[in-house]
Amino acid sequence: MTVSLFADKCDGIDECPENGMCIKICALNAISNINDLPQIDDDNCSNCGLCILSCPNEALSN
Ligand code: SF4
Ligand code: SF4
Repeated sequence: MTVSLFADKCDGIDECPENGMCIKICALNAISNINDLPQIDDDNCSNCGLCILSCPNEALSN
């Protein structure tokens, strides 16, 4: 299982209430900023769930 983004819930990284915390919190650098939206690299994600917990908009899920 991998992490998915619900783009309609994400404000975009520039407007994120937590300043793109999902990207910052990932110790494996598995999330990139692609056109102002987080993109999860499934090959690097360990499914630890930290990014899911960090998102104030509940825009990430597994
Ligand atoms: S679940 Fe963990 S490893 Fe995967 S993208 Fe989120 S913070 Fe990174
Ligand atoms: S923490 Fe949530 S709202 Fe902020 S950039 Fe990441 S997915 Fe979007």
